[in-house]
Amino acid sequence: MKKTYHIAVIPGDGIGPEVINEGVKVLKKVAELDGRFEFKFAYFPWGCEYYSKHGKMMDDDGIEQLKNFDAIYLGAVGYPGVPDHISLWDLLLKIRKSFDQYVNLRPITCLSEDVCPLKHVKKEDIDMLIIRENSEGEYAGAGDWLFKDKKEEVVLQTGVFSRKGTERIIRYAFETARKAGKALTSVSKGNALNYSMVFWDQIFAEVGREYPDVETYSYLVDAASMFMVQQPKRFEIVVTSNLFGDILTDLGAALTGGLGLAAGANINPERKYPSMFEPVHGSAPDISGQGKANPLASIWSASQMLDFFGFEEHSKRLIKIIEKLLKETECLTPDMGGNALTGDVGDFFVNILESEL
Ligand code: ATP
Ligand code: MG
Repeated sequence: MKKTYHIAVIPGDGIGPEVINEGVKVLKKVAELDGRFEFKFAYFPWGCEYYSKHGKMMDDDGIEQLKNFDAIYLGAVGYPGVPDHISLWDLLLKIRKSFDQYVNLRPITCLSEDVCPLKHVKKEDIDMLIIRENSEGEYAGAGDWLFKDKKEEVVLQTGVFSRKGTERIIRYAFETARKAGKALTSVSKGNALNYSMVFWDQIFAEVGREYPDVETYSYLVDAASMFMVQQPKRFEIVVTSNLFGDILTDLGAALTGGLGLAAGANINPERKYPSMFEPVHGSAPDISGQGKANPLASIWSASQMLDFFGFEEHSKRLIKIIEKLLKETECLTPDMGGNALTGDVGDFFVNILESEL
């Protein structure tokens, strides 16, 4: 009996549907060639275009509709004219929060020196996984606007670090490091953020005592940023807070090929709810509808999905194919200096997958 994975696909706006098509093409081919499992894709037309017609980003019972899927595969949401706080809060963040996707996984792996701006490092030197806290911290939305007269206005924005929230992300990172046999680095800022980050460091040390086999490091976020550029080889698995993770993963993306290649997964490790896989880039309205979008980030996030389902071999194979593609100029999309169309990239994967049989 074939196992069936039910995937909710939210292509979204702009280039979202274009890049998601290629990811779906690749996933279907992987399953077909494997033979032990299949994917069933259900499409949801939500996003900003939907908002302009219906006055909402998703159906009112949208979360209920998604609840029983094995995973969510998302393109991009965003549209000129729809404020970011609506597109973000009423769809992406709603899904992340409702499904308690408290782990954000961003692989930072350099697959070609041609796409890395650093001249002093070899591609093997950049191979890390950043595990970002995805549910609270600096992005908890806690704060206030203290109105007095204009000159004396004071605005507060505070971070929320619960024991439950901090411990579970750090524990997840230790488990990941142990499984991979890699070192774990915590990035924080205990010298300046004298409550939240002291607490973070304390929990990192506490949980670490349960994992004596995992080698650990702790860096201040400013030093970590410097080392990521100067000596990226120092990092293997990295765990950090929501805000620091946001910044460091963009820095990481810049080191490894930019938005066209940056993939991300929002994970609910308990698998009580679906996890969500998505390219990091937005809807890029400037190039949508022209067949120019680079689908590698969405294919990479599809490979994260395969890994999440336990198909590590397939996941790794897709990364190998990305590596191969980056060497072949006729398959590069315009953002990487080539002339290939979005669809050519997916076809390249299908051809290689078939020929490797
Ligand atoms: P959004 O409002 O949805 O975030 P955006 O205009 O900010 O959309 P981003 O996707 O964040 O777009 O990216 C900024 C620019 O980078 C795009 O306008 C586009 O030119 C380029 N870009 C982003 N992703 C890709 C991609 N997959 N392929 C090619 N170019 C891309
Ligand atoms: Mg953007």
